[in-house]
Amino acid sequence: MLDPPLPDQFVERMRRLLGAEADAFLASYGRPAERSARANTGKVSARDLAALLGVDLEPVPWCEDASFLPEGVRVGATAAHAAGLFYIQDPSALAVVEALDVRPGHRVLDLAAAPGGKTTHIASKLGTSGVVVANEVDSGRLQALADNLDRWGSWRVAIAGETVERLARRLPGAFDRVLLDAPCSGEGLFRRSGAARVQWQPGHVRGSAERQRELLGQAARLVRPGGVLVYSTCTFAPEENERQVAAFLGAHGGWELLEIPWRPGFSPGRPDWSPGGPAELARTVRLWPHLLRGEGHFVAKLGRRDGGAAPGPDGRDRPGRRDPSRAGGRRPRQPGGVLAAWEAFSADALTRRPAPSSTPTGARAGARVVGDRAYLVPHELIVPGDLRWLRPGLLLGRSRPGRFEPAHALAMASTPSTVRRRRRLATGEASAWLRGEPLQAGPSEGWTLVTTGDWPLGWGRAVGGILKNHYPKGLRAHGSPSEEERRSGS
Ligand code: SAM
Repeated sequence: MLDPPLPDQFVERMRRLLGAEADAFLASYGRPAERSARANTGKVSARDLAALLGVDLEPVPWCEDASFLPEGVRVGATAAHAAGLFYIQDPSALAVVEALDVRPGHRVLDLAAAPGGKTTHIASKLGTSGVVVANEVDSGRLQALADNLDRWGSWRVAIAGETVERLARRLPGAFDRVLLDAPCSGEGLFRRSGAARVQWQPGHVRGSAERQRELLGQAARLVRPGGVLVYSTCTFAPEENERQVAAFLGAHGGWELLEIPWRPGFSPGRPDWSPGGPAELARTVRLWPHLLRGEGHFVAKLGRRDGGAAPGPDGRDRPGRRDPSRAGGRRPRQPGGVLAAWEAFSADALTRRPAPSSTPTGARAGARVVGDRAYLVPHELIVPGDLRWLRPGLLLGRSRPGRFEPAHALAMASTPSTVRRRRRLATGEASAWLRGEPLQAGPSEGWTLVTTGDWPLGWGRAVGGILKNHYPKGLRAHGSPSEEERRSGS
């Protein structure tokens, strides 16, 4: 028996919808929530990750890079997690990016991105070309998003803090793939969160559905002709799922529901729960906690037909390459000085300097200055200067009086072969490093990449025989493993 219990009105509605199947559905709440570890394939394979974590490889059938985590195994506070080798995720959530069909070179927009589970998945699919813009309107959630993306160490990520409406106005038709992992009534969280069960009210479904209708209409404007929009929720209510998609198709010509490749455990969406809706609603996917190892999810893949002109910008707002150095609204302060500091740092600390035509990974990109910070902007990224950018590319670091301080993001995107100095931590040193403790240094001085195995954990600075610890204070290990996992749980 769950304590606190499932909300009565939720149980009544699910009994009404599911009929004879409801008992099996409700019985699933007597089992623990499922979790998986998705490998950061730019750094490690799923097989090697399972070996590293000491768990059996039990692949998630709909995502070959992820493995189920056995109950009770806590891996959120490990050095492997801090090194960005994996993301802990509800297995059902993995179906969303798999449906998005991201290919290298794509320009992708993740509209509701925090804390970043799906953005990191998209970044892995991009590999070394293309870009994903992770957008999050709630400024209180941006830091967790940035922390998770830093950990991932992809060069192909930018972070914006915009409303969907403004993005749609400024960047119409600009993306090959758009994901709206919509804010919803969260019924799929009931097994893992007592708070979700307590806070739920029937009115949340209505409120969420209204907001989703608005967001979905705006999201559609951002997709190029021939592009794909994936709409997903972690709730069961038909108003937020099949009926939402039916209303969208009814109001937007030139769109069709696309098939999602079928995987064991998937169930078709329910046209019968959306009176008057098209039979194609069966192409959407439902993930049910009693029919697979995962929580409740809904995924719809919408295709924008090719041939139509991209929706025009509204006259005032033209998409395009404005001066990215104005991104975020801040005027550059002596951009030449910041670039000179960056170049002095990279000449001293890196074996290869990221430049417009080559990054340490060989991808094309250009360095840009915003305020006192330097970024590496993937060439695929359109950066209108008047949007709120938290990061218009990978943060390289910041110019301080007399020196350049490299960013944690740069360390995590580096490899031992792209730096001049590297300190490989000995067994037992990693936990001290993640607590922020200094180590003894060798004779060579300066910025040093600290690694566990060959995987970066951050920067240290060797001065006078001491390796000063520059692991970000906000990430240092003082929380419990479960807190770490909570931060990356979606
Ligand atoms: N995609 C995320 C992941 O995989 O880690 C989870 C996203 S969560 C389901 C929904 C997100 O929508 C939240 O981060 C929330 O802040 C955001 N959100 C809430 N209201 C919004 C709105 N009006 N417009 C855009 N995003 C909104």
